[in-house]
Amino acid sequence: MSAVDDLIAAGRALVDAGLSPGSSGNVSVRDGDRLLMTGTGTRLGALRPDDVAVLDLDGVALGGARPSKEVALHVAMYARNPAHTAVVHVHSPSTVALSCLEPWAPHSAVPPLTPYTLMRVGQVPLLGFVPPGDPRMGALITDCPHPFRAALLANHGAVVSGDDLEGAVDSTVELEEACRIALLTHGRERRLIAAEHVRAITDRWGTPWSETPSLS
Ligand SMILES: [Zn+2]
Repeated sequence: MSAVDDLIAAGRALVDAGLSPGSSGNVSVRDGDRLLMTGTGTRLGALRPDDVAVLDLDGVALGGARPSKEVALHVAMYARNPAHTAVVHVHSPSTVALSCLEPWAPHSAVPPLTPYTLMRVGQVPLLGFVPPGDPRMGALITDCPHPFRAALLANHGAVVSGDDLEGAVDSTVELEEACRIALLTHGRERRLIAAEHVRAITDRWGTPWSETPSLS
């Protein structure tokens, strides 16, 4: 499959998973020294080849559709995780809801509740609010002191990067579920995975986790 076919398939998968309300969200894939990104105003579930914008790795448009206004977010994610070749940004219900709450801890808005999230995503810092499309969005990603593969954007949604597009989509689905579980258990006497298990799981799977303060 070409990179464009991969983008079309990823868009459909995100819509099928219920992660693109009102046709929101955008997806990009790195193809050598170019980024292919869904264009502004496109519907993720019905992408066509001419809905794809072509950019250089600094986010400068080279051709194709007009890129989404959230280019800075994608460019900063690739710069932060150079081995990653795909970025997904969504306004999915549970990531947005959790992004409107105070974070569980400075390094992660999502507490360690289930092992699969730790294996797949690790910690998920909450980044500050800037209006959508504001170029300072890139600085929020770049300046975050905690390593991450996925972050929540305050009162906005989530951004996730991955080794490949399929992996980034799978991690986004996992993150939505993790946020839903965090919301369902919020304010209750919940039991977190103990710090030593969090450390063992994230070490084994190579996912980022900075620390586990004793919070509930
Ligand atoms: Zn957005």
